[in-house]
Amino acid sequence: MIYADNAATTKMSRAAINAMLPYMEQYYGNPSSLYAFGQQAREALENARSRIAACLHADPREITFTSGGSEADNQAIMTAAALGARRGKRHIVSTAFEHHAVLHTLEKLKKQGYEVTLLDVHSTGLVTPEQVTEAIREDTCLVTIMYANNEIGTIQPVAEIGAVCREKGVLFHTDAVQAAGHLPIDVKAQNIDLLSLSAHKFHGPKGIGVLYAKRGVALETIISGGAQERGKRAGTENIPAVMGMAAALEEACANMDEHRARLTGLRERLIHGLEQIPYGELNGDRERRLPGNVNFCFEGIEGESLLLLLDERGICASSGSACTSGSLDPSHVLLAIGRPHEVAHGSLRLSLGEEMTEADVDEIIQAVTDVVTRLRNMSPFWRDLVNGKRPHVFAE
Ligand SMILES: *Cc1c(COP(=O)(O)O)cnc(C)c1O
Repeated sequence: MIYADNAATTKMSRAAINAMLPYMEQYYGNPSSLYAFGQQAREALENARSRIAACLHADPREITFTSGGSEADNQAIMTAAALGARRGKRHIVSTAFEHHAVLHTLEKLKKQGYEVTLLDVHSTGLVTPEQVTEAIREDTCLVTIMYANNEIGTIQPVAEIGAVCREKGVLFHTDAVQAAGHLPIDVKAQNIDLLSLSAHKFHGPKGIGVLYAKRGVALETIISGGAQERGKRAGTENIPAVMGMAAALEEACANMDEHRARLTGLRERLIHGLEQIPYGELNGDRERRLPGNVNFCFEGIEGESLLLLLDERGICASSGSACTSGSLDPSHVLLAIGRPHEVAHGSLRLSLGEEMTEADVDEIIQAVTDVVTRLRNMSPFWRDLVNGKRPHVFAE
């Protein structure tokens, strides 16, 4: 099997698993317990918090553990919304191609009377700091723009957008779930007030994540109960997962440059190979993209069939995000960058992992080429394109 869906989730690293085991087998105490056995767990938790903070150039007190990226996104946005409302500010700026954890939270806020401006992303998926400057109003309480897009891999100019927000006195949140462990993060240098990350996207365990909130930004409680996480997030801490996340993040950050160089090489090889298929096009920016992200649209192809046939050949890929699969709607991300419905349906996302080889990439190229040809030969839609009954969207 070739696993090429690392944007959906990753295999846990050995270091992460090893870091977790002692906290399941031996040190399983509750950190809120007063006896020494519980306090050992407390110390481990705080140690992990410091190590994670160091990876982000943050202070440990600015790190809150959540159940993952979705919860961190929810809490970040609800926090900024609540703080804004207290000052009569109920306007939020975001983009049309955020993750649903962001977009659906914004939808909820709209029902509560907030106004949301979704910026257009260019055909490459890039947002400019100038667009953000123009969109910010007197009553804007939050700008939330993702660091790197999970479908097309576009990397935003986060530091510059953060600088605009800082100058205007507006909170800036970035969903860095795809970036953490893969791209450098420095919350101070990049002017970030709120940031979400999730361990299972960088070889850590599922169900654990971080919300970074700059000092002075008082978090809104989403999950009420005990006084864990300074009273901002109730629930007995998932110590094994936190330990796994800390180990995975440290490992990813230590090897970042090496992994980035290697993945970029594999990515370019894959892009070059898939570009040989006629009537297809790369989605997202050619340069400013995640090292492991490749996303193509092919004319005359139905994404689901493409994935099923690739699966038969032992290749795990995706048509977009794991969250949209199973629905027949084309990806909101591809529509946001201006892909017409008929080609947005024929998208293929391949997200590479560090363990992949050039031989794997070549096997993927061969399989996609074969499968696209086979599907097109069976497709009445494709016949219309070939016969000139419908116009092509892409060049040959
Ligand atoms: C995966 C992902 C999320 C959700 O993270 P979970 O930990 O699975 O809840 C949010 N945003 C982006 C960009 C993602 O890729």
